[in-house]
Amino acid sequence: MKTKMHRIYLDYAATTPVLPEVAAEVQKVMLAEFGNPSSLHQDGQKAREYRETTREQVSQAIKAKPDEIFFTSGGTESDHLAVLGIAHALKNKGNHIITSSIEHSAVLGACQILEEEGFQITRLPASSNGLVEPESLKKAIKKESVLVTIMMANNEIGTIQPIEELVKIAKLHNLYFHTDAVQAFPYLTIDVQNLAVDALTISAHKIYAPKGVGALYLKRGTPFKPLSLGGEQERKVRPGTENMPGIAGFGKAAAILMRDRDKDSKKILTLRSKLENSLMEKISHVLLNGDPEKRLPGFLNLTFKHVDGEALLINLDLSKISCSAGSACAAGAADPSRVLIAIGRTPDEAKSSIRFSLGKFTSSEDIEAVLKILPQSVQKLRAASSLSYTA
Ligand SMILES: *Cc1c(COP(=O)(O)O)cnc(C)c1O
Repeated sequence: MKTKMHRIYLDYAATTPVLPEVAAEVQKVMLAEFGNPSSLHQDGQKAREYRETTREQVSQAIKAKPDEIFFTSGGTESDHLAVLGIAHALKNKGNHIITSSIEHSAVLGACQILEEEGFQITRLPASSNGLVEPESLKKAIKKESVLVTIMMANNEIGTIQPIEELVKIAKLHNLYFHTDAVQAFPYLTIDVQNLAVDALTISAHKIYAPKGVGALYLKRGTPFKPLSLGGEQERKVRPGTENMPGIAGFGKAAAILMRDRDKDSKKILTLRSKLENSLMEKISHVLLNGDPEKRLPGFLNLTFKHVDGEALLINLDLSKISCSAGSACAAGAADPSRVLIAIGRTPDEAKSSIRFSLGKFTSSEDIEAVLKILPQSVQKLRAASSLSYTA
């Protein structure tokens, strides 16, 4: 089996195709090595070996110790475990949590749960480039503060946050720090020891492995109260029989990521620059969303003024191009992107925005095709609207 791309897929931030080597590993663990890792017999032992191999591979990929990696059902669950698990454990110490206004909905959701439980939440603003200013974190800290959760890179605009600086400030005040690194992991070198974060979230399906599996890094000694009770799996941080095929695939994908990341990132950045520069040249009244420099290589989020973003998406879809308006998790929502509003776009501008996210299998032919189709689509939509803008 090969990874098959039927269309021009530019939505890698929503999910990635599974690599053939990863799929082979998943299949092996489903069909041949199907044991329950909690069983004492040899089938169970074999399953444990697969699980622990992945733990090694994932821990190496972020420079953690293997016993600091906990398998979960994905990024959403890891975010909830980190934010709720740490906050609940620290409840008697303080009830103030600091996050940003551009977090993934999983982190915002976890913070909302805490708010309903009586915690106070401060949501730091983002600059027009999508950056959370370290100065704003400094100002937000008060004596009840216990935990900061700010993402490493944003899933709509790709902006990379100054996490090192933010962590330093938090640590000066003895606050715990969680970062959602789901989008950063495919592109950036992550070293949890250097970073000095206490908790970090990653997800398998953003690195060419199956959906439904992820990991939470929890530094040794981090206060934590589990959200579910049950078996002893994952040392009670996350009970429940493990998603073994997913875990095996995750390990393989993490090892491949370590092998290919630098080379892939370079190639993807070249293609992204070509797409960005050429679109800016060919189409008028386009705004770049996010930081021009501090941005993940695969991300290009653009506002095509006076174009209905949804109509543009449908046009592109009919031309076999898959991309998205904002994040997949917010798709279908009639509201303009919360992230784009937070960085100062008007609701109309936000609704005229498209996210292209490139990845491992993006080719220069794909980019050429988009450069041919997109300017025409924009022109057509602008001509059809009562406004007198042309591409
Ligand atoms: C995709 C994503 C998630 C959610 O991960 P799932 O594995 O899909 O639950 C969380 N945070 C960010 C930044 C993401 O991009």
